Amino acid sequence: MRQIWQGYFAMTVAGTLAHLVGALLWWADPIQRNFSLLGMLICGVMLVFILRARHLKRPEKQFRIVDVLALGLGVMWLLVDSSQDLLSSGKLGIYSLLDFAIVSVISFNVFSHRVAALLTLLGYVLVSGIYMSTGEKDLPVILAIGVLVALVGFISLFSRQVIVEQARSEWLLHLAYQDPLTGVSSRRVAEDVLAKVLRQPTSQETALVMLDIDHFKTINDRWGHLEGDRMLQQVAQVLRVGVRAGDVVCRWGGEEFLLILFDVDAQGLVQRVEALRQQIGLADPEINLTASAGGALLSEGKDAREVLALADQRLYAAKNAGRNQTVWHSEAAPQNPQQSVRLGKIY
Ligand code: GH3
Ligand code: MG
Ligand code: MG
Repeated sequence: MRQIWQGYFAMTVAGTLAHLVGALLWWADPIQRNFSLLGMLICGVMLVFILRARHLKRPEKQFRIVDVLALGLGVMWLLVDSSQDLLSSGKLGIYSLLDFAIVSVISFNVFSHRVAALLTLLGYVLVSGIYMSTGEKDLPVILAIGVLVALVGFISLFSRQVIVEQARSEWLLHLAYQDPLTGVSSRRVAEDVLAKVLRQPTSQETALVMLDIDHFKTINDRWGHLEGDRMLQQVAQVLRVGVRAGDVVCRWGGEEFLLILFDVDAQGLVQRVEALRQQIGLADPEINLTASAGGALLSEGKDAREVLALADQRLYAAKNAGRNQTVWHSEAAPQNPQQSVRLGKIY
């Protein structure tokens, strides 16, 4: 994002320089006024970028600075061009009218739409009054500028509304997809990912691990709810840092996390999950947190729901077996005996 606004800034400066060079050269030779046109072209490109690229979660301060800067520069061009026009020929030329159009467009980005519309209207009355009383008295030109300004103002307003709506929906998505307390993915993400995994089956194995903090109620009772929240954040951080890029850590609910681990091999998987559980214990030596987990491979069930149920059953088996451990196989009626044997051998 920083690069984008630096880009705007560079373009604004380039446009201004071209414009100023054009204004200075024009004193010597009116043909050199093409530089001013170049300046306007660059500014036009810059404006299009400003109007288009604001799909941000929240309005950024830098964009406001660039808007205000652009408005200041636009007003400066307008003053330079119009004073040049009036001093040299006693008439207001078309370039000054175009400057006015640029300034009014930028004003819609800086001020509220009411204020911008009022300023534009007042400016239009003033500029067209001067143009008609001193210039070519070309009514179609002044009407065309009026239509142009009204049209661009309307587009600017419309795009601002689109940007606000876009930002709002991005923010809502962000809320829906991220757990606000721990910053890991929400349950919705896990559900979406699981649905996607099922739609695109691969030869690589995927593991689901349901992990639940042990005796968390006691921790809350003993250390307080705020400390409990802090522990949840720490556990989430351990899990987030501990998984590989592309794996999913989601807060399934309360003090329960679901890990979706892609491209796993059975031996490494068990070690990785054990390492994560140990890290959870080390996060706060004073509290000495432990967690239980139930793991299942996607190939063990016919769909994600079934594998999730397996992981959940195994989590409860781990709790019943005394907590602080991971269970990878079902004691009773394993879904896929071969898999259970394979995983069983590891233990
Ligand atoms: P077990 O070892 O059987 O899992 O016992 P437990 O105490 O961890 O499980 P139980 O389901 O009895 O209690 C879960 C506790 O988690 C109760 C609830 O207050 C707490 N909890 C759930 N969500 C949050 C949260 O967002 N913040 C805090 N501080 N506590 C939470
Ligand atoms: Mg618990
Ligand atoms: Mg629980």
